[in-house]
Amino acid sequence: MSQVATTLPTPSKAGACSAPEVLRERGQREVFCGLTGIIWLHRKIQDAFFLIVGSRTCAHLMQSAAGVMIFAEPRFGTAIIEERDLAGMADANDELDKVVSRLLARRPDIKLLFLVGSCPSEVIKLDLSRAAQRLSKQFMPDVRVLNYSGSGIETTFTQGEDMCLAALVPELPAETSDAEPSLMLVGALADVVEDQFLRSFKALGLDRISVLPPRRSTDLPAVGPNTRFLLCQPFLGETARLLEERGAQRLAAPFPLGVEGTTAWLKAAADAWQVSEQRFREVTAPAQQRARIATARYRDQLAGQRIFFFPDSQLEIPIARFLARELDMQLIEVGTPYLHRQHMSEELALLPEGVQLSEGQHVDRQIDRCRAAQPDLTVCGLGLANPLEQEGLTTKWSIELVFTPIQGFEQAGDLAELFARPLVRRTKLEV
Ligand code: SF4
Repeated sequence: MSQVATTLPTPSKAGACSAPEVLRERGQREVFCGLTGIIWLHRKIQDAFFLIVGSRTCAHLMQSAAGVMIFAEPRFGTAIIEERDLAGMADANDELDKVVSRLLARRPDIKLLFLVGSCPSEVIKLDLSRAAQRLSKQFMPDVRVLNYSGSGIETTFTQGEDMCLAALVPELPAETSDAEPSLMLVGALADVVEDQFLRSFKALGLDRISVLPPRRSTDLPAVGPNTRFLLCQPFLGETARLLEERGAQRLAAPFPLGVEGTTAWLKAAADAWQVSEQRFREVTAPAQQRARIATARYRDQLAGQRIFFFPDSQLEIPIARFLARELDMQLIEVGTPYLHRQHMSEELALLPEGVQLSEGQHVDRQIDRCRAAQPDLTVCGLGLANPLEQEGLTTKWSIELVFTPIQGFEQAGDLAELFARPLVRRTKLEV
């Protein structure tokens, strides 16, 4: 059944970058901070708890953004840094140890505790990595304590996931150099999407597959020189770097969005495992066909519509590629908070000639460009959406792209519908 090669061919490195000209901007930015990632990560790793070490502002952000505090036993919370901590009148480490001890005594279901840094914890230079080591010593083997930063000082909201997964990489067990080749899917996906991908890879004959993050922290996947990994999300630069340091090799591919992206992403692994063309076609063709039909339903509404992306989620480039190539939308500007040229190389090669890319943000200048262009649809963060709507522009919240299952063949129609919906709403309002 299995067509897995015992030794894998070395994956091809991304070729010379054929990236279009990129407008680099530095200035005021309008983005959420990395704490936001907790909203989807706490659902994914089901025995983990995310303890934000932050201020009341951080707690409010999480409660209003997540809106899930109605759970009797939430899997995240905030250890509030009070004014006396900020003034150095109390030992913040002692306070933190007390909060953690109380939490873990009350919640024996927690097996992995993340101490999540914030702007306030960074400002008072609270060393959370030392705190995590100290607490890990105290609570291992029952609870592993790790730390990462979700601070908004220099990051954008999806980087919270990158920081979280990067904190997990040193904890992964080592796989020996003579281990059978294995594939790791890297990046949090909705469970339903993850299950679809696992089924597809199994059908292709790959049977050693793992996921990072796992659903339970006790199932951390092993990593070693025979690990190949596919990034499921485009914002995992640091996680990928650390996996490579541990010997794993990234399979270069576009991201699994839309029919084309999903096909190429699956194919990257199929080629590494030397799966025959015929088998690949047999496994993927029915789902490809369903996805084509599902997306075609929205082509009439979206074709020719002009779209402008403000930088926010780092999903902008793969989604722009999908909208341009599979739905014939016109890209006016595609902004991204950060452009990882190597990870994005396959995506950039698929973008239409001459598309305007921008990296970073100078929000006032970008708003001016958006106003001048008067796009049919503007993809932006929540903070910009209302003012732009008031000016008569139709907007789409980019954060929805992270909360909605959009990867894979079965979700391609839903992804198209996310962009058609605001246009339909506008038409109804105009009638
Ligand atoms: S981490 Fe910083 S940006 Fe995020 S909510 Fe807290 S104070 Fe605000």
